[in-house]
Amino acid sequence: MYFKDIIGQQDIKRRLIESAQKKVVPHAQLFCEQGGAGAYPLALAYGRYLNCSHPSDTDACGECPSCIKFDALAHPDLHFVFPIISRKEKKKEVCDDYLPEWRDFLKGRPYFSLDNWLEVMDAGNSQATIYAKESEEIIRKLNLKIYEAAYRILLVWLPEKMHPSCANKLLKIIEEPPTNTIILMVSEEPDMVLGTILSRAQRVNVRGISREEMTEALVNREMLEPEQAKEVAHLSEGSYLKALELINVNEENAYYLERFKDMMRNSWARNVKGMKVLADTLAGIGRERQKSFLSYCQHLIRENFMYRFQTNDLNYMNRQEADFAVKFSPFVNERNVFDLMDELAKAERHIAQNVNAKMVFFDLSLRITVFIRR
Ligand SMILES: [Zn+2]
Repeated sequence: MYFKDIIGQQDIKRRLIESAQKKVVPHAQLFCEQGGAGAYPLALAYGRYLNCSHPSDTDACGECPSCIKFDALAHPDLHFVFPIISRKEKKKEVCDDYLPEWRDFLKGRPYFSLDNWLEVMDAGNSQATIYAKESEEIIRKLNLKIYEAAYRILLVWLPEKMHPSCANKLLKIIEEPPTNTIILMVSEEPDMVLGTILSRAQRVNVRGISREEMTEALVNREMLEPEQAKEVAHLSEGSYLKALELINVNEENAYYLERFKDMMRNSWARNVKGMKVLADTLAGIGRERQKSFLSYCQHLIRENFMYRFQTNDLNYMNRQEADFAVKFSPFVNERNVFDLMDELAKAERHIAQNVNAKMVFFDLSLRITVFIRR
């Protein structure tokens, strides 16, 4: 993780770099964010910068021995603490037991949430915690001699998940860490962090990513069209994670729209072969998606019916859907709108009741054949 990998946050980057250059580095810092703004990658890039042998004015060099060990997330003076699911039977009781998974996780993505990590750990309904046992590990590590680094870095993700007895044991070391040891904590719920820890750490507030910087990142990193990027940036509220979620939802929508078009065209053309192919396709996407597809179809039928009245404030369609409505809306009218809606709702119920999906979708297409020509 380098500063250049993090979207926006120029002010904080500048402040962190200055503190490193002036060698005025607070020994305990708490990076706070709402999630998805880049606090964790910032802290990690900062740790790298502090230890780089040839840093520039904007970033670490990427070539010195320290940077190379940071690339592998395997610097001997870089220690990770994060919430885990303790599994005694699998000998997974402290963070180091999860280190291989954690490194892969971090390398895969600069922006992530606790949910993402829980998925990797296969957490099910268990709560992730930084357990009391971790405090002994931390104290042991921080009392070792520093191997080679200018600064030993302890990077704590989500101190709000720390068991109180762990937090209490760490108070002394947070207040007065061994020489050249820097404790960087990253919190998404600073209000939940123990007050005694809060008061010992310097706070770094990481605000949401600005709309302009988010738009630019979505165009460059996610290959969005500028207009779409702007729309997503507007809805993302400064969180890159939320932006990615929105893109996924959009992709799902686009898929549903195409299948909806297939279905209507097949029915209009009385293309029985096409109906069979579509029923096969939809049978393969899983029950949950089948249900969302059918409720999406009802939404589109309703919108296309309303489209004829040209009341923009009653229309809830994105651009692709609206483009399609120009041609399709004349086919939805007073004579068939209720029957179409009923059939779609019935199909949705049947899917929920585990009726054979292939039959449900084929049957549906056949019935639409009758309604669509009214
Ligand atoms: Zn370097």
